[in-house]
Amino acid sequence: MATASTPTATRCCSYELVAQAGKARLGRLHLPHGVVPTPAFMPVGTAGSVKGLTPDEVWDIGASMILANTFHLWVRPGADLVQRLGGPHKMMGWTGPILTDSGGFQAFSFREKAKAQEDGVKFLSAYDRQWRFMSPEICVGLQEALGVDVAMALDECIAHPTERRKVLASTQRTTRWLHRCLAARRAPEQTALFGIVQGGFEADLRLEHARTLSAMDLDGYAIGGLSVGETAEERERMVALSADALPAHKVRYLMGVGYPIDIVEAVIRGVDLFDCVLPTRTARFGYLFTEKGRLAIKHAAYREDSRPIEDGCPCYTCRSFSRAYLRHLHLSGELLAPRLFTLHNLAFYQRLMARLRDSIVDGPEALESLRLQAKRWQEPYRDDPEDSHDPLSRR
Ligand SMILES: [Zn+2]
Repeated sequence: MATASTPTATRCCSYELVAQAGKARLGRLHLPHGVVPTPAFMPVGTAGSVKGLTPDEVWDIGASMILANTFHLWVRPGADLVQRLGGPHKMMGWTGPILTDSGGFQAFSFREKAKAQEDGVKFLSAYDRQWRFMSPEICVGLQEALGVDVAMALDECIAHPTERRKVLASTQRTTRWLHRCLAARRAPEQTALFGIVQGGFEADLRLEHARTLSAMDLDGYAIGGLSVGETAEERERMVALSADALPAHKVRYLMGVGYPIDIVEAVIRGVDLFDCVLPTRTARFGYLFTEKGRLAIKHAAYREDSRPIEDGCPCYTCRSFSRAYLRHLHLSGELLAPRLFTLHNLAFYQRLMARLRDSIVDGPEALESLRLQAKRWQEPYRDDPEDSHDPLSRR
């Protein structure tokens, strides 16, 4: 089934719906620094770099948009310096679109050292031991000054579980902050602003928040407050009711999720855009995504294994090196190991996104087949010895 919508000329951001399979959407996100085919996965470059990779390598594995973080760039090297270096695109050597997280999540992650108040959040930065203050106005001002393609609005982040009364108060504050973010915009023709649906795991509060934000006609919508220790079923329910309430002609971004199966489940529920540290972080621990499950390169079983990480994987790592050599690099603490593993894992995620886009064209049956396959990908590699010490196992 194919439908189409016309990008709005007056915005710097528009979402073009190309085709649908059930609720899954194939689209194109138009931004100042390029067009992003969706569903898309953004590699995370928190501190101004996708750890270990050059921008050319990130581009070559199929990524068309990356995520950076306002808070990190603000504190180090400093927003002024980033500006003097020509902005994050020029500084990082990345010519494609950049989305920046607002910094709110980082501020709230210093829980005992953060204080949310009506005007914003005050927190003690772990980097420089300085007290800093982030308001909705500062949040938008920083991201516009950096010149990123997409700025995220400041939202209040809460722990899970949180009692309903506090979820309600926090969600209402997030709405008030969003109004202030909108009023603070000075460069809407250069930087898009996405609002974030909150509401914790209170279905009615989340639905109401999604409806409130929908009425505000934003450039795009994020679904936030998930991947905080809930079950997959709880998350999928919140994703579905959020996505169903958001406008069809705007992009939908699920923040910080997740495993390949989590991404597939969310695409099936109508989400377009993703980011997660998982493929890059697990790579640095020597955990590698394959279609036979997660391979832990440290295992003795690979000591003399001349096969690549994954047969048929077109990435540079798999084209060039054996498991035995990669295991040696990993155990020797060689710098090349996390680089090569990150390349493979991100290539795996980008191939997943390409397969999702193809499956939406092929229809619901193709999507369901991919979903059944992806369910197996997060389990320990089936040829591995017992993987009882996997610190990253979640389900
Ligand atoms: Zn590979």
